[in-house]
Amino acid sequence: MPEEESVYNGKATMEKISSLAKRKGFVFQSSEIYGGQNGAWDYGPLGVELKNKIAAAWWKEMTRLNDNIVGLDAAILMHPRVWEASGHVENFTDPLVDCKKCKARFRADQIPPENIEKKTCPECGGELTETRNFNLMFKTSIGPVEDSSSVIYLRPETAQGIYVNYKNVAQSARLKIPFGIAQIGKAFRNEIVTKNFIFRTCEFEQMEMQFFVKPGSDEEWFDEWKKRRWAYYNKLGVKMENFRWHKHGPDELAHYAKDAYDIEYLFPMGWKELEGVHNRSDYDISRHAEYSKKDLQYIDQDDGNKKYTPFIIETSAGLTRNLLMILCDAYDEDEANGETRAVLRFHPALAPITAAVLPLVKKDGLAEIAQGIAAELKEDFNVDYDQSGAIGRRYRRQDEIGTPFCVTADYETKENGSVTLRFRDSMEQTRIHKNALAERLRKEIKEYKRIK
Ligand code: ATP
Repeated sequence: MPEEESVYNGKATMEKISSLAKRKGFVFQSSEIYGGQNGAWDYGPLGVELKNKIAAAWWKEMTRLNDNIVGLDAAILMHPRVWEASGHVENFTDPLVDCKKCKARFRADQIPPENIEKKTCPECGGELTETRNFNLMFKTSIGPVEDSSSVIYLRPETAQGIYVNYKNVAQSARLKIPFGIAQIGKAFRNEIVTKNFIFRTCEFEQMEMQFFVKPGSDEEWFDEWKKRRWAYYNKLGVKMENFRWHKHGPDELAHYAKDAYDIEYLFPMGWKELEGVHNRSDYDISRHAEYSKKDLQYIDQDDGNKKYTPFIIETSAGLTRNLLMILCDAYDEDEANGETRAVLRFHPALAPITAAVLPLVKKDGLAEIAQGIAAELKEDFNVDYDQSGAIGRRYRRQDEIGTPFCVTADYETKENGSVTLRFRDSMEQTRIHKNALAERLRKEIKEYKRIK
C-alpha cells in the first residue's frame, strides 16, 4: 500500500529552527569562525541541557523502568575485526555520483532516477560520473606508524559495543534471557550532508537498546518493542499525528535484518526516519562467534542448559535527530501586540530551563528575595534568574526558549511570601506560597498535558 503523502502543517521551517537555535544558544555550526565544518555541530548552553534531558528520558524509560535492561558505555574505538564481522567493511556503503562540471556530489538514491539514467547533474545539468559505492566509515590509524596494520575506525553505530560485550554483561549482572542492554553514545559516518541542519551529520549520537531473546520468540518481542517505542513518544507529549510507521520492503532490508520498521516523523522537509526497530535475527552474535572463534552461545539454565545463539531485537534512535524533532515539534508562533512571536512548547520534563525566577523590579529588596527563591529551587530544577528589562519582555524571552514556568516575586511576596506562578502555554497566572513551589512544579511536570 503506498504511504500517503502528508503535508506539513506546523509553523517550523528549517531556516526558522536553525536561526532560533543559533540565536538562543541551542546549536552552533562547528568551527564557525573558520567558515564552518560541514556535518558537525556544537551544542550551546540550552542545547546541551535539552540533549541531556532527552537522553535522560530515554535512559529512564529503557533502564530504570525495565528490570531486565541494563546500561553500557563502550569505547568508540574497537578492534578492526569487529567491522568485518558486523558486515560494515563490506556492506556499509552509499552509492555516489559526482558532477564533472560543478563538482557537486550526490547520493545516487537521493536524486531523481532520470538524472541517473541520463547522467545529468540535477543542479547544473552537467555530466555525472558512473555510480560507485563509497564506504561510510571513518578510517584513521592508531599508533605512531601509519600502515595497514594500524587501521582503526570511528564506530558508525553503538550497537557493536553491545554485541561484543553481551556475555560480560549477562554474567556480571546475572541476567537471563530475555534481557536488554542500552547505550547512548557518539557514532560517526562519512555522510554527504548539504542541508537540513542537524538531521544528518557526520558526527552524531545514538540511543540504542539491544534486546536478547530466545529464537522463536523474536517476532513476539519485535511487536512488543514496536508498541513500547510508540508509547514512549506519546509520553514525551509530542504531536502523534506527525508520527507513522514505515515497513522496510525486501530491497530496503539491511544485510542483517529479518524484519524492520522505522518510526518516521513529519519534519518540515517531509517524512523522515527518526528511529529504527529491527529484528536482527541471530546474525550479529553468530558473526562475532565466527570471527572471534569464541563460543558466544547462551546457556539456558531454565531449559536443561540448552545452548543457543540469541536473536536480537534492536531499537535504534538518533539522539541528535530526536533533538531536532523535539525542536520542530515544540516550535509555535503566536501573535501579541500585533507581533509574531516564537514559542517553544517543550514538555516541562525536557525544557532546558524548568523555571525562571524574576523579581518584578530590582529595587526594594525584591531582587534578593527572588535570588533566595532561585537558590532553593536550583537544588531540584534547572533555574534561570533574570532581572533585566520589563517583566513582559522577560516572560517573552522565557517563552521563546521554552521555559514552562515563570515565578515572579513582587511586593506581596515581601508581606506574605506568596509569588506569581505563570504558565507558558495558557499564560495563566496563579498565586502560591514560595515554600510550596517545588512540590507544585513537580506535580505540574508529572501531570503535564499539551494544550497547544
Ligand atoms: P538513514 O537512512 O537516515 O541514513 P539509517 O537507516 O542508516 O539512517 P540506522 O543505521 O538505522 O540509520 O541508525 C539509527 C538511527 O540513528 C536513525 O534512525 C537516525 O535517527 C540516527 N542516524 C543515523 N545516521 C545518522 C546521521 N548521519 N546523523 C544523525 N543521525 C543519524
